[in-house]
Amino acid sequence: TDQSLVRNFCIIAHIDHGKSTVADRILQLSGIVEQREMRDRFLDRMDIEQERGITIKSQAVRVPWTVDGTEYTLGMIDTPGHVDFSYEVSRSLAACEGAVLLVDATQGIEAQTLSNLYMAMDHDLAIIPVLNKIDLPSAEPDKHADEIAGLLGVDPSEVLRVSGKTGDGVAELLNRIVAEVPAPKGQDAPDSPARALIFDSVYDSYRGIVTYIRMVDGELKSRQKIRMMGLGTVHDPIELGVISPEMQPTKALGAGEVGYIITGVKDVSQSKVGDTITAEVAPAEEPLAGYRDPQPMVYAGLFPIDNAQFPDLRDALDKLKLNDAALVYEPETSVALGFGFRCGFLGLLHMEIVSERLRREFGLDLISTAPSVTYDVVMEDRSEHHVTNPSEFPEGKVRSVTEPMVAADIILPKEFIGSVMELCQEHRGNMGTMEYISPERVEMHYTIPLAEIVFDFFDQLKSRTKGYASLDYHESGEQTADLVKVDILIQGETVDAFSAIVHRDKAYSYGVMMTKKLRELIPRQQFEIPIQAAIGSRIIARENIRALRKDVLAKCYGGDITRKRKLLEKQKAGKKRMKMLGHVEVPQEAFIAALATD
Ligand code: GDP
Ligand code: MG
Repeated sequence: TDQSLVRNFCIIAHIDHGKSTVADRILQLSGIVEQREMRDRFLDRMDIEQERGITIKSQAVRVPWTVDGTEYTLGMIDTPGHVDFSYEVSRSLAACEGAVLLVDATQGIEAQTLSNLYMAMDHDLAIIPVLNKIDLPSAEPDKHADEIAGLLGVDPSEVLRVSGKTGDGVAELLNRIVAEVPAPKGQDAPDSPARALIFDSVYDSYRGIVTYIRMVDGELKSRQKIRMMGLGTVHDPIELGVISPEMQPTKALGAGEVGYIITGVKDVSQSKVGDTITAEVAPAEEPLAGYRDPQPMVYAGLFPIDNAQFPDLRDALDKLKLNDAALVYEPETSVALGFGFRCGFLGLLHMEIVSERLRREFGLDLISTAPSVTYDVVMEDRSEHHVTNPSEFPEGKVRSVTEPMVAADIILPKEFIGSVMELCQEHRGNMGTMEYISPERVEMHYTIPLAEIVFDFFDQLKSRTKGYASLDYHESGEQTADLVKVDILIQGETVDAFSAIVHRDKAYSYGVMMTKKLRELIPRQQFEIPIQAAIGSRIIARENIRALRKDVLAKCYGGDITRKRKLLEKQKAGKKRMKMLGHVEVPQEAFIAALATD
Protein backbone atom coordinates (compact mmCIF):
# COMPACT_ATOMS: atom_id res chain seq x y z
CA THR A 1 0.00 0.00 0.00
CA ASP A 2 1.20 3.48 -0.90
CA GLN A 3 1.60 5.22 2.44
CA SER A 4 0.20 8.50 1.11
CA LEU A 5 -3.15 6.68 1.00
CA VAL A 6 -2.94 5.47 4.60
CA ARG A 7 -4.61 7.22 7.55
CA ASN A 8 -4.08 5.84 11.04
CA PHE A 9 -6.32 7.17 13.80
CA CYS A 10 -7.65 6.17 17.16
CA ILE A 11 -10.95 6.99 18.79
CA ILE A 12 -10.55 8.48 22.25
CA ALA A 13 -13.16 9.64 24.76
CA HIS A 14 -14.41 9.47 28.28
CA ILE A 15 -15.93 6.10 29.18
CA ASP A 16 -19.41 5.51 27.68
CA HIS A 17 -19.29 8.45 25.30
CA GLY A 18 -19.73 5.99 22.43
CA LYS A 19 -16.31 5.08 20.98
CA SER A 20 -17.11 1.42 20.38
CA THR A 21 -20.53 2.23 18.96
CA VAL A 22 -19.17 4.80 16.49
CA ALA A 23 -16.53 2.22 15.54
CA ASP A 24 -19.39 -0.20 14.76
CA ARG A 25 -20.93 2.25 12.30
CA ILE A 26 -17.53 2.76 10.66
CA LEU A 27 -17.12 -1.01 10.24
CA GLN A 28 -20.54 -1.20 8.64
CA LEU A 29 -20.30 1.87 6.43
CA SER A 30 -16.98 0.71 5.03
CA GLY A 31 -18.60 -2.61 4.20
CA ILE A 32 -16.14 -4.86 6.02
CA VAL A 33 -18.77 -6.10 8.45
CA GLU A 34 -22.09 -7.06 6.92
CA GLN A 35 -25.43 -6.37 8.52
CA ARG A 36 -26.05 -9.98 9.48
CA GLU A 37 -22.64 -10.35 11.11
CA MET A 38 -22.99 -7.14 13.03
CA ARG A 39 -23.30 -7.19 16.79
CA ASP A 40 -23.15 -4.28 19.20
CA ARG A 41 -19.65 -3.09 20.03
CA PHE A 42 -18.09 -5.46 17.52
CA LEU A 43 -14.54 -4.63 18.58
CA ASP A 44 -15.19 -5.47 22.23
CA ARG A 45 -14.15 -9.02 21.43
CA MET A 46 -13.82 -10.43 24.92
CA ASP A 47 -16.90 -11.83 26.72
CA ILE A 48 -15.94 -9.84 29.76
CA GLU A 49 -16.05 -6.62 27.70
CA GLN A 50 -19.47 -7.49 26.31
CA GLU A 51 -20.88 -8.38 29.71
CA ARG A 52 -19.58 -5.31 31.47
CA GLY A 53 -20.20 -3.01 28.55
CA ILE A 54 -16.69 -1.57 28.73
CA THR A 55 -13.67 -1.72 26.46
CA ILE A 56 -10.55 -3.11 28.13
CA LYS A 57 -8.29 -3.74 25.16
CA SER A 58 -7.51 -1.42 22.28
CA GLN A 59 -8.43 -3.03 18.95
CA ALA A 60 -6.88 -2.12 15.65
CA VAL A 61 -8.74 -2.78 12.42
CA ARG A 62 -8.25 -1.81 8.82
CA VAL A 63 -11.15 -0.22 6.96
CA PRO A 64 -11.19 0.89 3.32
CA TRP A 65 -12.80 4.25 2.53
CA THR A 66 -13.18 5.85 -0.85
CA VAL A 67 -13.17 9.61 -1.37
CA ASP A 68 -13.63 11.04 -4.92
CA GLY A 69 -12.79 7.71 -6.49
CA THR A 70 -9.57 7.19 -4.52
CA GLU A 71 -9.51 4.31 -2.08
CA TYR A 72 -7.80 5.06 1.22
CA THR A 73 -6.69 2.56 3.84
CA LEU A 74 -7.80 3.61 7.30
CA GLY A 75 -6.19 2.06 10.33
CA MET A 76 -8.66 2.54 13.15
CA ILE A 77 -7.98 1.82 16.83
CA ASP A 78 -10.84 1.74 19.33
CA THR A 79 -9.51 2.42 22.83
CA PRO A 80 -10.72 1.98 26.42
CA GLY A 81 -11.87 5.03 28.42
CA HIS A 82 -11.37 4.02 32.03
CA VAL A 83 -8.46 5.65 33.87
CA ASP A 84 -6.96 2.23 34.73
CA PHE A 85 -6.41 1.55 31.04
CA SER A 86 -4.81 4.78 29.95
CA TYR A 87 -1.53 2.92 29.35
CA GLU A 88 -3.45 0.91 26.77
CA VAL A 89 -4.54 4.18 25.14
CA SER A 90 -1.08 5.74 25.15
CA ARG A 91 0.42 2.75 23.33
CA SER A 92 -2.28 3.01 20.68
CA LEU A 93 -1.69 6.73 20.22
CA ALA A 94 1.90 5.95 19.32
CA ALA A 95 0.67 3.91 16.36
CA CYS A 96 -1.44 6.77 14.91
CA GLU A 97 -1.19 10.20 13.27
CA GLY A 98 -4.67 11.33 14.26
CA ALA A 99 -7.27 11.06 17.01
CA VAL A 100 -11.03 11.34 16.87
CA LEU A 101 -12.02 12.98 20.15
CA LEU A 102 -15.59 11.97 20.91
CA VAL A 103 -17.75 13.84 23.37
CA ASP A 104 -21.22 12.74 24.42
CA ALA A 105 -23.55 15.59 23.41
CA THR A 106 -25.69 15.02 26.50
CA GLN A 107 -22.74 15.16 28.91
CA GLY A 108 -20.04 17.42 27.54
CA ILE A 109 -16.36 17.29 28.42
CA GLU A 110 -15.49 14.89 31.22
CA ALA A 111 -12.29 14.05 33.08
CA GLN A 112 -11.00 11.41 30.67
CA THR A 113 -11.93 13.58 27.69
CA LEU A 114 -9.24 15.95 28.89
CA SER A 115 -6.65 13.37 29.93
CA ASN A 116 -6.97 11.54 26.61
CA LEU A 117 -6.86 14.79 24.67
CA TYR A 118 -3.66 15.84 26.44
CA MET A 119 -2.10 12.46 25.72
CA ALA A 120 -3.00 12.79 22.04
CA MET A 121 -1.49 16.29 21.96
CA ASP A 122 1.70 14.94 23.55
CA HIS A 123 1.94 12.58 20.59
CA ASP A 124 1.40 15.50 18.18
CA LEU A 125 -1.69 13.91 16.70
CA ALA A 126 -4.19 15.76 14.52
CA ILE A 127 -7.36 16.04 16.61
CA ILE A 128 -10.83 15.79 15.11
CA PRO A 129 -13.45 16.91 17.63
CA VAL A 130 -16.80 15.14 17.40
CA LEU A 131 -20.04 15.32 19.36
CA ASN A 132 -21.78 11.95 19.57
CA LYS A 133 -25.31 10.88 20.52
CA ILE A 134 -26.96 13.82 18.75
CA ASP A 135 -30.03 11.58 18.24
CA LEU A 136 -30.87 11.85 21.95
CA PRO A 137 -33.53 14.44 22.92
CA SER A 138 -31.38 15.55 25.85
CA ALA A 139 -28.41 16.31 23.58
CA GLU A 140 -27.18 19.92 23.73
CA PRO A 141 -24.80 20.01 20.77
CA ASP A 142 -24.56 23.81 20.47
CA LYS A 143 -23.62 24.27 24.08
CA HIS A 144 -21.04 21.49 24.09
CA ALA A 145 -19.63 22.47 20.70
CA ASP A 146 -18.78 25.85 22.26
CA GLU A 147 -17.14 24.11 25.19
CA ILE A 148 -14.97 21.93 22.95
CA ALA A 149 -14.16 24.74 20.55
CA GLY A 150 -13.00 26.80 23.52
CA LEU A 151 -10.80 23.99 24.72
CA LEU A 152 -9.17 23.37 21.34
CA GLY A 153 -9.11 26.96 20.15
CA VAL A 154 -11.14 26.21 17.01
CA ASP A 155 -14.43 27.50 15.63
CA PRO A 156 -17.53 25.70 17.00
CA SER A 157 -18.53 24.86 13.41
CA GLU A 158 -15.49 22.59 13.19
CA VAL A 159 -16.94 20.28 15.80
CA LEU A 160 -18.61 17.43 13.89
CA ARG A 161 -21.95 16.03 15.00
CA VAL A 162 -22.65 12.31 14.74
CA SER A 163 -24.79 9.56 16.12
CA GLY A 164 -23.27 6.15 16.71
CA LYS A 165 -26.78 4.86 17.03
CA THR A 166 -28.27 6.03 13.73
CA GLY A 167 -25.01 6.43 11.81
CA ASP A 168 -25.74 10.11 11.14
CA GLY A 169 -22.62 12.08 10.30
CA VAL A 170 -20.31 9.05 10.30
CA ALA A 171 -19.55 9.26 6.56
CA GLU A 172 -18.59 12.94 7.01
CA LEU A 173 -16.37 11.86 9.89
CA LEU A 174 -14.51 9.42 7.62
CA ASN A 175 -14.09 12.13 4.98
CA ARG A 176 -12.69 14.47 7.62
CA ILE A 177 -10.23 11.78 8.71
CA VAL A 178 -8.97 11.39 5.14
CA ALA A 179 -8.69 15.16 4.74
CA GLU A 180 -7.16 16.06 8.11
CA VAL A 181 -5.16 13.15 9.48
CA PRO A 182 -1.68 13.30 7.95
CA ALA A 183 -0.42 10.31 5.99
CA PRO A 184 2.43 8.39 7.67
CA LYS A 185 5.88 9.75 6.90
CA GLY A 186 8.11 6.71 7.28
CA GLN A 187 11.09 5.87 5.10
CA ASP A 188 9.52 4.01 2.20
CA ALA A 189 12.21 3.83 -0.45
CA PRO A 190 12.63 0.23 -1.69
CA ASP A 191 15.94 -0.17 0.17
CA SER A 192 14.86 1.44 3.50
CA PRO A 193 15.64 -0.80 6.48
CA ALA A 194 12.40 -2.08 8.01
CA ARG A 195 11.29 -0.91 11.44
CA ALA A 196 8.01 -1.91 13.09
CA LEU A 197 6.78 -1.04 16.59
CA ILE A 198 5.14 -3.82 18.62
CA PHE A 199 2.22 -2.03 20.27
CA ASP A 200 0.36 -5.06 21.59
CA SER A 201 0.38 -8.84 21.55
CA VAL A 202 -1.77 -11.76 22.56
CA TYR A 203 -1.22 -15.45 23.26
CA ASP A 204 -3.19 -17.79 21.05
CA SER A 205 -3.14 -21.39 22.24
CA TYR A 206 -3.02 -22.77 18.69
CA ARG A 207 -0.82 -20.30 16.91
CA GLY A 208 1.40 -19.04 19.72
CA ILE A 209 2.26 -15.38 20.11
CA VAL A 210 0.49 -12.91 17.83
CA THR A 211 2.18 -9.50 17.80
CA TYR A 212 0.38 -6.37 16.62
CA ILE A 213 2.68 -3.98 14.84
CA ARG A 214 2.80 -0.56 13.30
CA MET A 215 5.21 -0.47 10.35
CA VAL A 216 7.17 2.75 10.61
CA ASP A 217 9.86 2.40 7.94
CA GLY A 218 10.45 0.04 5.05
CA GLU A 219 8.63 -3.18 4.35
CA LEU A 220 8.39 -6.66 5.87
CA LYS A 221 7.56 -9.61 3.63
CA SER A 222 5.96 -12.82 4.75
CA ARG A 223 8.95 -14.92 3.68
CA GLN A 224 11.66 -13.01 5.40
CA LYS A 225 13.48 -13.61 8.67
CA ILE A 226 12.85 -10.95 11.30
CA ARG A 227 14.80 -9.74 14.29
CA MET A 228 13.47 -8.38 17.58
CA MET A 229 15.93 -5.54 18.18
CA GLY A 230 15.56 -5.31 21.98
CA LEU A 231 15.58 -9.03 22.71
CA GLY A 232 18.05 -9.84 19.92
CA THR A 233 16.11 -12.91 18.83
CA VAL A 234 15.56 -13.99 15.21
CA HIS A 235 12.37 -15.59 13.94
CA ASP A 236 10.85 -17.02 10.80
CA PRO A 237 7.38 -15.52 10.61
CA ILE A 238 4.74 -18.06 9.65
CA GLU A 239 2.17 -15.42 8.82
CA LEU A 240 1.85 -11.69 8.46
CA GLY A 241 -1.28 -9.73 7.71
CA VAL A 242 -3.91 -7.16 8.55
CA ILE A 243 -7.05 -7.27 10.68
CA SER A 244 -10.15 -6.42 8.69
CA PRO A 245 -12.16 -7.25 10.79
CA GLU A 246 -10.57 -10.67 11.36
CA MET A 247 -6.97 -11.69 10.60
CA GLN A 248 -6.22 -11.68 6.87
CA PRO A 249 -2.79 -12.87 5.72
CA THR A 250 -0.98 -10.59 3.26
CA LYS A 251 2.31 -10.90 1.39
CA ALA A 252 3.87 -7.83 2.91
CA LEU A 253 3.34 -4.88 5.22
CA GLY A 254 4.68 -1.54 4.08
CA ALA A 255 5.61 1.74 5.77
CA GLY A 256 2.67 3.26 7.65
CA GLU A 257 0.58 0.10 7.80
CA VAL A 258 -0.83 -1.51 10.91
CA GLY A 259 -0.98 -5.31 11.02
CA TYR A 260 0.12 -8.47 12.79
CA ILE A 261 2.91 -11.06 12.70
CA ILE A 262 2.80 -14.65 13.90
CA THR A 263 6.19 -16.24 14.51
CA GLY A 264 4.92 -19.60 15.71
CA VAL A 265 6.88 -19.11 18.92
CA LYS A 266 5.12 -20.18 22.11
CA ASP A 267 7.76 -19.08 24.60
CA VAL A 268 6.38 -15.85 25.98
CA SER A 269 9.80 -14.45 26.86
CA GLN A 270 10.38 -14.12 23.09
CA SER A 271 8.16 -11.09 22.66
CA LYS A 272 7.99 -7.69 24.29
CA VAL A 273 5.55 -4.86 23.73
CA GLY A 274 7.47 -1.71 22.77
CA ASP A 275 10.25 -3.65 21.02
CA THR A 276 11.19 -2.91 17.39
CA ILE A 277 11.06 -5.55 14.68
CA THR A 278 13.48 -5.29 11.78
CA ALA A 279 14.57 -7.59 8.97
CA GLU A 280 17.38 -10.06 9.67
CA VAL A 281 19.00 -9.18 6.34
CA ALA A 282 19.78 -5.45 5.99
CA PRO A 283 18.51 -4.60 9.50
CA ALA A 284 17.87 -1.10 10.82
CA GLU A 285 20.59 0.35 13.03
CA GLU A 286 18.54 2.10 15.68
CA PRO A 287 15.36 0.77 17.31
CA LEU A 288 12.26 2.97 17.64
CA ALA A 289 11.63 4.85 20.87
CA GLY A 290 9.34 2.19 22.36
CA TYR A 291 7.34 2.74 25.53
CA ARG A 292 7.95 3.80 29.06
CA ASP A 293 7.02 0.99 31.47
CA PRO A 294 3.93 1.95 33.43
CA GLN A 295 4.25 2.23 37.20
CA PRO A 296 1.82 0.01 39.11
CA MET A 297 -0.46 1.97 41.43
CA VAL A 298 -1.65 -0.85 43.69
CA TYR A 299 -0.29 -4.22 44.70
CA ALA A 300 -2.08 -7.32 45.93
CA GLY A 301 -1.21 -10.98 46.43
CA LEU A 302 -2.87 -13.53 44.14
CA PHE A 303 -2.91 -17.08 45.50
CA PRO A 304 -4.39 -20.19 43.93
CA ILE A 305 -7.08 -21.67 46.18
CA ASP A 306 -5.59 -25.04 45.34
CA ASN A 307 -1.87 -24.67 46.00
CA ALA A 308 -1.07 -27.32 43.39
CA GLN A 309 -2.09 -24.71 40.79
CA PHE A 310 0.87 -22.47 41.58
CA PRO A 311 2.85 -23.47 38.43
CA ASP A 312 -0.28 -22.96 36.34
CA LEU A 313 -0.68 -19.51 37.81
CA ARG A 314 2.88 -18.62 36.83
CA ASP A 315 2.28 -19.84 33.30
CA ALA A 316 -1.02 -17.99 33.07
CA LEU A 317 0.50 -14.71 34.28
CA ASP A 318 3.30 -15.01 31.72
CA LYS A 319 0.75 -15.44 28.94
CA LEU A 320 -1.62 -12.78 30.18
CA LYS A 321 1.27 -10.32 30.44
CA LEU A 322 1.65 -10.52 26.65
CA ASN A 323 -1.81 -9.04 26.31
CA ASP A 324 -1.54 -6.80 29.36
CA ALA A 325 1.76 -4.98 29.32
CA ALA A 326 0.88 -3.08 32.51
CA LEU A 327 0.78 -6.21 34.68
CA VAL A 328 3.81 -6.92 36.92
CA TYR A 329 4.29 -9.84 39.32
CA GLU A 330 6.81 -11.71 41.42
CA PRO A 331 6.51 -14.86 43.55
CA GLU A 332 5.46 -14.44 47.15
CA THR A 333 4.77 -16.81 50.05
CA SER A 334 2.22 -16.28 52.75
CA VAL A 335 1.93 -18.27 55.97
CA ALA A 336 -1.82 -18.13 55.63
CA LEU A 337 -2.26 -18.55 51.88
CA GLY A 338 0.75 -20.53 50.67
CA PHE A 339 2.53 -19.84 47.36
CA GLY A 340 1.35 -17.09 45.07
CA PHE A 341 2.38 -13.88 43.36
CA ARG A 342 2.60 -10.28 44.46
CA CYS A 343 1.05 -8.43 41.53
CA GLY A 344 1.11 -4.75 40.61
CA PHE A 345 -1.92 -3.17 38.93
CA LEU A 346 -2.88 0.23 37.56
CA GLY A 347 -5.99 0.35 39.75
CA LEU A 348 -8.74 -1.75 41.24
CA LEU A 349 -10.62 -2.25 37.98
CA HIS A 350 -7.40 -3.48 36.40
CA MET A 351 -6.95 -5.88 39.33
CA GLU A 352 -10.50 -7.13 39.01
CA ILE A 353 -10.13 -7.70 35.27
CA VAL A 354 -6.83 -9.57 35.68
CA SER A 355 -8.34 -11.92 38.31
CA GLU A 356 -11.38 -12.43 36.15
CA ARG A 357 -9.33 -13.17 33.03
CA LEU A 358 -7.13 -15.62 34.98
CA ARG A 359 -10.30 -17.38 36.04
CA ARG A 360 -12.00 -17.41 32.65
CA GLU A 361 -9.16 -17.81 30.22
CA PHE A 362 -6.95 -20.06 32.36
CA GLY A 363 -9.42 -21.80 34.68
CA LEU A 364 -7.73 -20.62 37.88
CA ASP A 365 -9.52 -20.10 41.19
CA LEU A 366 -7.74 -17.41 43.16
CA ILE A 367 -7.80 -15.55 46.43
CA SER A 368 -6.56 -12.01 46.30
CA THR A 369 -5.32 -10.16 49.36
CA ALA A 370 -6.43 -6.63 50.16
CA PRO A 371 -4.86 -4.22 47.66
CA SER A 372 -2.29 -1.79 48.97
CA VAL A 373 -0.23 1.07 47.59
CA THR A 374 3.56 1.14 48.09
CA TYR A 375 5.35 2.91 50.91
CA ASP A 376 8.89 4.05 51.57
CA VAL A 377 9.85 3.51 55.17
CA VAL A 378 12.95 4.99 56.82
CA MET A 379 13.92 3.52 60.20
CA GLU A 380 15.66 5.23 63.12
CA ASP A 381 18.84 3.39 62.09
CA ARG A 382 18.47 5.12 58.68
CA SER A 383 17.81 1.88 56.82
CA GLU A 384 15.33 2.33 53.96
CA HIS A 385 12.62 -0.08 52.88
CA HIS A 386 10.33 -0.05 49.86
CA VAL A 387 7.19 -1.82 51.02
CA THR A 388 4.80 -3.31 48.46
CA ASN A 389 3.34 -5.79 50.95
CA PRO A 390 2.05 -4.61 54.34
CA SER A 391 3.25 -7.80 56.06
CA GLU A 392 6.79 -6.80 55.08
CA PHE A 393 6.60 -3.49 56.90
CA PRO A 394 9.86 -3.44 58.89
CA GLU A 395 9.86 -4.13 62.64
CA GLY A 396 11.41 -1.59 64.99
CA LYS A 397 11.51 2.16 65.41
CA VAL A 398 10.21 4.01 62.38
CA ARG A 399 11.55 7.43 61.50
CA SER A 400 9.23 8.26 58.59
CA VAL A 401 6.77 6.70 56.17
CA THR A 402 6.25 8.17 52.72
CA GLU A 403 3.16 7.48 50.62
CA PRO A 404 2.48 8.10 46.91
CA MET A 405 0.36 11.10 45.93
CA VAL A 406 -1.78 11.75 42.88
CA ALA A 407 -2.92 14.87 41.09
CA ALA A 408 -6.66 14.45 40.75
CA ASP A 409 -8.84 16.38 38.30
CA ILE A 410 -12.54 16.37 39.06
CA ILE A 411 -15.18 17.79 36.74
CA LEU A 412 -18.54 18.55 38.31
CA PRO A 413 -21.60 20.79 38.16
CA LYS A 414 -20.95 23.85 40.31
CA GLU A 415 -23.75 23.14 42.80
CA PHE A 416 -21.72 20.19 44.15
CA ILE A 417 -18.51 22.15 44.81
CA GLY A 418 -19.06 22.28 48.58
CA SER A 419 -19.84 18.64 48.96
CA VAL A 420 -16.87 17.54 46.83
CA MET A 421 -14.52 19.80 48.81
CA GLU A 422 -15.73 18.09 51.96
CA LEU A 423 -15.16 14.65 50.47
CA CYS A 424 -11.62 15.54 49.40
CA GLN A 425 -10.83 16.93 52.84
CA GLU A 426 -12.03 13.73 54.49
CA HIS A 427 -9.57 11.93 52.23
CA ARG A 428 -6.63 14.13 53.22
CA GLY A 429 -6.70 16.07 49.94
CA ASN A 430 -5.07 19.45 49.29
CA MET A 431 -6.97 21.76 47.03
CA GLY A 432 -5.22 23.40 44.10
CA THR A 433 -6.86 25.60 41.49
CA MET A 434 -10.38 25.51 40.11
CA GLU A 435 -11.55 26.54 36.63
CA TYR A 436 -14.91 26.98 34.98
CA ILE A 437 -15.14 24.94 31.78
CA SER A 438 -18.64 26.33 31.14
CA PRO A 439 -20.96 28.59 33.14
CA GLU A 440 -22.36 25.53 34.98
CA ARG A 441 -19.40 23.21 35.31
CA VAL A 442 -16.01 23.43 36.98
CA GLU A 443 -12.80 21.47 37.02
CA MET A 444 -11.21 21.16 40.46
CA HIS A 445 -7.60 20.12 41.03
CA TYR A 446 -6.50 18.29 44.14
CA THR A 447 -3.44 16.51 45.45
CA ILE A 448 -4.59 13.42 47.34
CA PRO A 449 -2.83 10.37 48.74
CA LEU A 450 -3.19 7.55 46.23
CA ALA A 451 -4.35 5.20 49.01
CA GLU A 452 -7.30 7.51 49.63
CA ILE A 453 -8.38 7.59 46.01
CA VAL A 454 -8.02 4.04 44.69
CA PHE A 455 -10.49 2.39 47.02
CA ASP A 456 -13.96 3.83 47.49
CA PHE A 457 -13.38 7.48 46.60
CA PHE A 458 -14.95 7.27 43.17
CA ASP A 459 -18.16 5.65 44.46
CA GLN A 460 -18.50 8.32 47.11
CA LEU A 461 -17.85 11.04 44.56
CA LYS A 462 -20.56 9.63 42.32
CA SER A 463 -23.09 9.38 45.12
CA ARG A 464 -22.41 12.90 46.40
CA THR A 465 -22.83 14.39 42.94
CA LYS A 466 -25.79 12.27 41.79
CA GLY A 467 -23.48 10.66 39.25
CA TYR A 468 -22.52 13.95 37.60
CA ALA A 469 -18.83 14.14 38.56
CA SER A 470 -15.96 12.52 36.70
CA LEU A 471 -12.47 11.88 37.98
CA ASP A 472 -9.05 11.45 36.45
CA TYR A 473 -5.73 11.14 38.28
CA HIS A 474 -2.07 10.54 37.69
CA GLU A 475 0.97 10.08 39.88
CA SER A 476 2.37 13.19 41.44
CA GLY A 477 5.21 12.71 43.91
CA GLU A 478 4.92 11.59 47.50
CA GLN A 479 4.50 12.89 51.04
CA THR A 480 5.30 11.72 54.54
CA ALA A 481 2.29 10.83 56.68
CA ASP A 482 1.46 9.29 60.01
CA LEU A 483 0.96 5.74 58.80
CA VAL A 484 1.08 2.59 60.87
CA LYS A 485 0.87 -1.13 60.25
CA VAL A 486 -2.07 -2.90 61.86
CA ASP A 487 -1.62 -6.65 62.38
CA ILE A 488 -4.36 -9.15 62.97
CA LEU A 489 -3.55 -11.99 65.40
CA ILE A 490 -5.46 -15.21 65.76
CA GLN A 491 -4.63 -16.93 69.05
CA GLY A 492 -1.52 -14.80 69.31
CA GLU A 493 -0.24 -15.53 65.79
CA THR A 494 -0.04 -12.78 63.19
CA VAL A 495 -1.93 -13.64 60.00
CA ASP A 496 0.20 -12.04 57.29
CA ALA A 497 -2.59 -11.79 54.71
CA PHE A 498 -4.59 -9.45 56.98
CA SER A 499 -1.91 -6.88 57.81
CA ALA A 500 -2.64 -3.39 56.51
CA ILE A 501 -0.90 -0.04 56.44
CA VAL A 502 -3.35 2.69 57.39
CA HIS A 503 -3.39 6.26 58.60
CA ARG A 504 -3.15 6.35 62.41
CA ASP A 505 -6.61 7.94 62.62
CA LYS A 506 -8.13 4.94 60.86
CA ALA A 507 -6.12 2.19 62.58
CA TYR A 508 -8.67 1.60 65.32
CA SER A 509 -11.65 1.29 63.00
CA TYR A 510 -9.72 -1.09 60.72
CA GLY A 511 -8.83 -3.24 63.75
CA VAL A 512 -12.39 -3.37 65.03
CA MET A 513 -13.80 -4.12 61.58
CA MET A 514 -11.40 -7.02 60.92
CA THR A 515 -11.66 -8.65 64.35
CA LYS A 516 -15.47 -8.53 64.23
CA LYS A 517 -15.52 -9.95 60.72
CA LEU A 518 -13.22 -12.83 61.65
CA ARG A 519 -15.21 -13.63 64.78
CA GLU A 520 -18.20 -14.23 62.52
CA LEU A 521 -16.25 -16.21 59.96
CA ILE A 522 -14.12 -18.61 61.99
CA PRO A 523 -16.09 -21.56 63.41
CA ARG A 524 -15.97 -22.32 67.13
CA GLN A 525 -13.43 -24.91 68.15
CA GLN A 526 -12.59 -26.99 71.26
CA PHE A 527 -10.87 -24.02 72.90
CA GLU A 528 -11.35 -20.29 73.15
CA ILE A 529 -9.76 -18.27 70.32
CA PRO A 530 -8.75 -14.66 70.86
CA ILE A 531 -8.70 -12.45 67.75
CA GLN A 532 -6.73 -9.25 68.16
CA ALA A 533 -5.66 -6.22 66.20
CA ALA A 534 -2.31 -4.69 67.11
CA ILE A 535 0.03 -1.85 66.21
CA GLY A 536 3.42 -3.33 67.06
CA SER A 537 2.94 -4.91 70.49
CA ARG A 538 0.00 -2.68 71.43
CA ILE A 539 -3.40 -4.36 71.17
CA ILE A 540 -6.04 -1.97 69.81
CA ALA A 541 -9.04 -4.31 69.40
CA ARG A 542 -10.04 -7.75 70.57
CA GLU A 543 -12.81 -10.29 70.02
CA ASN A 544 -13.22 -13.82 71.37
CA ILE A 545 -14.56 -16.95 69.75
CA ARG A 546 -15.96 -19.05 72.58
CA ALA A 547 -15.02 -22.72 72.90
CA LEU A 548 -17.32 -25.45 71.63
CA ARG A 549 -18.66 -27.43 74.53
CA LYS A 550 -19.77 -30.71 73.02
CA ASP A 551 -18.05 -33.09 70.67
CA VAL A 552 -19.81 -33.25 67.31
CA LEU A 553 -20.12 -36.98 67.66
CA ALA A 554 -22.23 -36.55 70.75
CA LYS A 555 -25.00 -35.59 68.37
CA CYS A 556 -25.15 -39.20 67.14
CA TYR A 557 -26.49 -40.83 70.22
CA GLY A 558 -26.76 -44.59 70.19
CA GLY A 559 -24.99 -47.01 67.97
CA ASP A 560 -25.63 -45.86 64.41
CA ILE A 561 -22.09 -46.64 63.35
CA THR A 562 -22.52 -45.87 59.63
CA ARG A 563 -23.84 -42.45 60.43
CA LYS A 564 -20.87 -41.78 62.69
CA ARG A 565 -18.49 -42.86 59.97
CA LYS A 566 -20.16 -40.66 57.41
CA LEU A 567 -19.89 -37.71 59.73
CA LEU A 568 -16.19 -38.36 60.31
CA GLU A 569 -15.57 -38.58 56.58
CA LYS A 570 -17.42 -35.39 55.98
CA GLN A 571 -15.27 -33.70 58.59
CA LYS A 572 -12.13 -35.03 56.97
CA ALA A 573 -13.12 -33.73 53.55
CA GLY A 574 -13.91 -30.38 55.13
CA LYS A 575 -10.43 -30.31 56.69
CA LYS A 576 -8.76 -30.28 53.30
CA ARG A 577 -10.02 -26.78 52.75
CA MET A 578 -8.91 -25.73 56.21
CA LYS A 579 -5.71 -23.84 56.90
CA MET A 580 -3.98 -24.38 60.22
CA LEU A 581 -2.91 -21.19 61.94
CA GLY A 582 -1.10 -22.41 65.04
CA HIS A 583 -3.74 -24.71 66.54
CA VAL A 584 -6.63 -22.94 64.92
CA GLU A 585 -8.37 -24.31 61.85
CA VAL A 586 -9.49 -21.53 59.55
CA PRO A 587 -11.69 -22.46 56.59
CA GLN A 588 -10.55 -21.19 53.22
CA GLU A 589 -13.89 -19.43 52.82
CA ALA A 590 -13.17 -17.35 55.92
CA PHE A 591 -10.09 -15.90 54.20
CA ILE A 592 -11.97 -15.18 51.03
CA ALA A 593 -14.82 -13.53 52.89
CA ALA A 594 -12.55 -11.56 55.22
CA LEU A 595 -10.50 -10.24 52.29
CA ALA A 596 -13.52 -9.37 50.18
CA THR A 597 -13.87 -5.62 49.86
CA ASP A 598 -17.39 -4.53 50.61
P1 GDP B 1 -17.45 3.67 24.89
O1 GDP B 1 -17.24 3.35 26.35
O2 GDP B 1 -17.00 5.06 24.59
O3 GDP B 1 -16.87 2.66 23.96
O4 GDP B 1 -19.04 3.69 24.67
P2 GDP B 1 -19.98 2.60 24.01
O5 GDP B 1 -19.82 2.58 22.53
O6 GDP B 1 -19.80 1.31 24.74
O7 GDP B 1 -21.40 3.25 24.30
C1 GDP B 1 -21.87 3.52 25.61
C2 GDP B 1 -23.38 3.53 25.61
O8 GDP B 1 -23.86 4.62 24.83
C3 GDP B 1 -23.99 2.29 24.99
O9 GDP B 1 -25.12 1.95 25.74
C4 GDP B 1 -24.35 2.72 23.58
O10 GDP B 1 -25.43 1.99 23.07
C5 GDP B 1 -24.73 4.17 23.80
N1 GDP B 1 -24.48 4.99 22.60
C6 GDP B 1 -23.31 5.12 21.93
N2 GDP B 1 -23.45 5.98 20.90
C7 GDP B 1 -24.74 6.41 20.93
C8 GDP B 1 -25.51 7.33 20.12
O11 GDP B 1 -25.03 7.95 19.18
N3 GDP B 1 -26.82 7.51 20.47
C9 GDP B 1 -27.39 6.86 21.51
N4 GDP B 1 -28.66 7.10 21.75
N5 GDP B 1 -26.70 6.01 22.28
C10 GDP B 1 -25.40 5.78 22.00
MG1 MG C 1 -15.69 1.09 24.24
